[in-house]
Amino acid sequence: MKCPEHRVEYQPVRTSYEQLGVILKDVEALRCPVGGEVVFTLEQAERMRERIAVLSPRLKLRRKITRAAGKPSIYLPEEIVKQSGLRIGQEVSVYLADKKRIVIEAT
Ligand SMILES: [Zn+2]
Repeated sequence: MKCPEHRVEYQPVRTSYEQLGVILKDVEALRCPVGGEVVFTLEQAERMRERIAVLSPRLKLRRKITRAAGKPSIYLPEEIVKQSGLRIGQEVSVYLADKKRIVIEAT
């Protein structure tokens, strides 16, 4: 894909992108090496929309409480784990924010 203004090939880059108060890290995009402007292909924009949909508080993910190793468990959505920077094996604090909200916080 070429920049129509500077007539050079766009270069693939990874960048951060903010929309609806959600910051996406490590987003694939294209950058013009002359003007420095960043654009997205339709495919890249679609992937971003999917990631934002997962993270936007207006579009909540539903999970069922299951039983794992005899204890009540919830599987964390991968996109939320990725964006929070949490890792397998990492310790977190779990506490009640109020009667209906449980907070998982990196320690
Ligand atoms: Zn350009």
